[in-house]
Amino acid sequence: MSTTATDYRILIGGELVEAASGETMDVIAPATGETIAQVPSCGAEDVDRAVEAASAALPAWLEKTPKERSELLHALAAVLDDNAEELAQLESVNVGKPLMASRDEMPFSADNLRFFAGAARNLEGKSAGEYIEGYTSMIRREPIGIVGGICPWNYPLMMAVWKLAPALAAGNCQILKPSEQTPLSLLRFVQLAQEVIPPGVLQVVTGDGVPVGQRLVEHPAIGMVSLTGDVETGKIIARTAAETLKRVHLELGGKAPMVVFDDADPKAVAEGIRLAGFWNSGQDCTAGSRVIAGPRIYDRLLEELVPRVESLKVGDPLNDETEMGSVISKDQQARILGFLERAKTATVLTGGGTTSERGYFVQPTVVTDVQQTDEIVQNEIFGPVVTVQKFADDDEAIRWANDVRYGLAASVWTRDVGRAMNAARKLQFGCVWINDHLLPLASELPHGGYKQSGYGKDMSIYSMEEYTQLKHVAVKID
Ligand code: NAD
Repeated sequence: MSTTATDYRILIGGELVEAASGETMDVIAPATGETIAQVPSCGAEDVDRAVEAASAALPAWLEKTPKERSELLHALAAVLDDNAEELAQLESVNVGKPLMASRDEMPFSADNLRFFAGAARNLEGKSAGEYIEGYTSMIRREPIGIVGGICPWNYPLMMAVWKLAPALAAGNCQILKPSEQTPLSLLRFVQLAQEVIPPGVLQVVTGDGVPVGQRLVEHPAIGMVSLTGDVETGKIIARTAAETLKRVHLELGGKAPMVVFDDADPKAVAEGIRLAGFWNSGQDCTAGSRVIAGPRIYDRLLEELVPRVESLKVGDPLNDETEMGSVISKDQQARILGFLERAKTATVLTGGGTTSERGYFVQPTVVTDVQQTDEIVQNEIFGPVVTVQKFADDDEAIRWANDVRYGLAASVWTRDVGRAMNAARKLQFGCVWINDHLLPLASELPHGGYKQSGYGKDMSIYSMEEYTQLKHVAVKID
């Protein structure tokens, strides 16, 4: 798939335009290493233009009823549904992910838009009443105003939808920045939806984290910024946001443990790891990247796991049979392989290298003989690498599971309900799955981290809290 420079422009004030500087940047297909498009390389002045357009649009947008906001989200969902195959193909090419995965993301993203179309009409506030003698008080839940959204490259369009749907449902105007590596699906989506988006209500600017993301965080007229990205980026954004005391919503990295007790079914666990460790080439913040297995199941589990991992079909993302594509970039490939090179004492049971000369592939990899303090156990690799550790008892399993700076997702594998519930209670993660890992998503359920995986929730009604603020209005009644 190839495109031309004029295909991709940013959306500012309802118009598809170039960057003010006229500069563009290349977009690469990671499965081939080829340049597939140029997109505007924006600067701070483009963010300022978008803020100006949002400021102009906001007063009229604030007058819209929940029903009208809901209608916009339904219209966006219809655009997504009508163009799902094209968007899925674009996503596969730009991210290097299998088509079957991109095809899954499109209907879910449309569902997310529809969920928030409903949520827009069901925002709850406390009932009005007389809490102070002589006064009636009411509590209003109001939008923040202009909000920024900064997206990652692993699920480009889906992450953008997770931000724009609650933001618009709550009555905000939003300016989105896709990852510089994967801007195509969002640019194409807003191009397709241009007719239904009121000018200035939803805008997209493209470019590097610095200056574009940074300017979104610095701009005094932006009241809140939501980031999905790396922990270190989250820290920079929180520090920068402190200057204007704007709110931040941070969905950051993870290092999800899969705690496997001795009574679990090794075949089911091995199937679970095959999916959870290698989906999207392991470039998933909830990827099951650390298996922590009991002393009696450990050997059996490895016997079941290694052939399953070796059976993964790795290759061209556009081939219907492919289960795992490339990783996102040459740098990411080198970063993943660097973890393996530095893990001197580790044993690589399978994988550990690249699969082809062309594109940026990493073999599905299983590693044992690692220590809890090793970098490969402690830090998010964000690639198709799973470590397997053997614990001595339940307490050690939970201690190791919790002993990382992240806290996004975890899973527990056992047939014992009490053991599962006890582990679920003790695990310090925003999501705990029992006897599964990486389930299908549901728009009703919150997603977000503990500890350095960030704060704030995506999806679900709780996400609306991130994009709204409460106001107390009191009326003197006598
Ligand atoms: P990243 O932090 O490198 O980039 C994310 C976004 O931040 C990009 O758009 C980038 O341009 C922007 N950015 C970079 N520096 C910035 C700065 N100084 N100011 C403002 N914006 C800046 O992350 P990535 O590599 O694109 O994505 C991978 C990371 O995202 C992983 O750590 C992964 O775990 C995390 N992630 C988390 C979730 C979640 O829900 N918690 C979901 C998906 C991905």
